[in-house]
Amino acid sequence: MYYYSTNNHNHQVSFREAVLNGLAPDGGLYMPSEIPKPDKFFIKSLQNLTFPEISLKIADKFVDAITPNDLQTIIEKTITFNAPLVSLSEQVAILELFHGPTLAFKDFGARFLANMMTYFNRDEDHEIIILVATSGDTGSAVAHAFYGCEGIKVGLLYPSGKVSKIQEQQLTTLGKNITAFEVEGTFDDCQNLVKNAFLDEDLRKKYILSSANSINIARLIPQSFYYFNAFARQEKADRPVIFSVPCGNFGNITAGIIASEMGLPVQLFYSALNSNKIFDDYLKTGKFVPKEAIRTLSNAMDVGNPSNFARISDIFNHQVEEIRTRIKSYSTSDDETLTIIQDVYNRHGYILDPHGAVGYAAWKNLHDGQSEAYTTIVLETAHPSKFIDVMPKELANEIAIPKRLQESLDKPKKSTLISSEFDQFKSELLNGLS
Ligand SMILES: *Cc1c(COP(=O)(O)O)cnc(C)c1O
Repeated sequence: MYYYSTNNHNHQVSFREAVLNGLAPDGGLYMPSEIPKPDKFFIKSLQNLTFPEISLKIADKFVDAITPNDLQTIIEKTITFNAPLVSLSEQVAILELFHGPTLAFKDFGARFLANMMTYFNRDEDHEIIILVATSGDTGSAVAHAFYGCEGIKVGLLYPSGKVSKIQEQQLTTLGKNITAFEVEGTFDDCQNLVKNAFLDEDLRKKYILSSANSINIARLIPQSFYYFNAFARQEKADRPVIFSVPCGNFGNITAGIIASEMGLPVQLFYSALNSNKIFDDYLKTGKFVPKEAIRTLSNAMDVGNPSNFARISDIFNHQVEEIRTRIKSYSTSDDETLTIIQDVYNRHGYILDPHGAVGYAAWKNLHDGQSEAYTTIVLETAHPSKFIDVMPKELANEIAIPKRLQESLDKPKKSTLISSEFDQFKSELLNGLS
């Protein structure tokens, strides 16, 4: 197994290099040389395995150059919380991905990556700098995953005024080896600053630069674990599933597509979008046209140029017709998001966060009533308490704020304000991070 760049299939590196590079030098994203196909008994045996056991079996197919014992240790350090499936009806179940330290699904990827990088860097004396552009949840998941890791420093970039108060507190209150940059611009500006840093010769000479965004292959691989686990935990054993995935940079859905290419019985994916509907337009027109991101209530999905599109396109040989057979999309307005949150609460007594609500909206609008044939699993990507300021008033009162979140709310914010021009960011980096 090797990893190639989506920009050039002849550029091939080891898993270790792909993890440490993050982005390929040519600007492409790393993909595994082949998508592994476990034997058919593996799918049958899933129900008898625990979540960490399933995770280890999947990871083992993608990762080489790590002994089985060390890989097991990494999995045990990563998968320390569950991803329960909560059934709402015969047709729909909610996959709760928010039981990690920062209450969002990104904890899975960030922790696997942090453990991998610490492992690969254990005998090196070079400093690794990790740069992360975040629209909210990536940053806090990465910061918490790398907090206190030896030989690794983290620079977080977030768009000023465009993340929630709670998200900002989670990003800016850790200290130690974590530096938060508050960028006067959009999330896409933050992503551009990171991309420019990776391509900058001066910075590349001084540091090992890496990324912890969903572009890093080690963020992606562990996200496939919970698709297998969810399939195994559904009430009607072995029923084919549809996954409705709230999409921003499309890392989460890409991990699901990889799981399905590995043989998981997935009938279809719903790409659930807010008003940032570049992918919806792509499915309709066959043209992928990035746009300025629009602000919405589900702000972790406010992405105008989803980076993992390169991987999806690569998996399906750049054939939009093929992609259309595997993925349907639906774009939800903020008004509909709020209506769904209220409606699901009234019907089922379940409180969705705005991202999960966009996922539910996709099911509601796209399903064709084949209730007997499939279970639709809506990925609930964050805990509603993170978005309490935009939730309907009466519901907000019902949401208990978990202790680990309350702790970060009580600490003072510390961030460095920078413009969206590259020069200022570059000199901050050359001066060194704390
Ligand atoms: C990041 C994020 C998303 C979008 O996930 P992608 O992998 O970027 O598509 C959805 N919901 C929440 C809560 C997130 O933090």
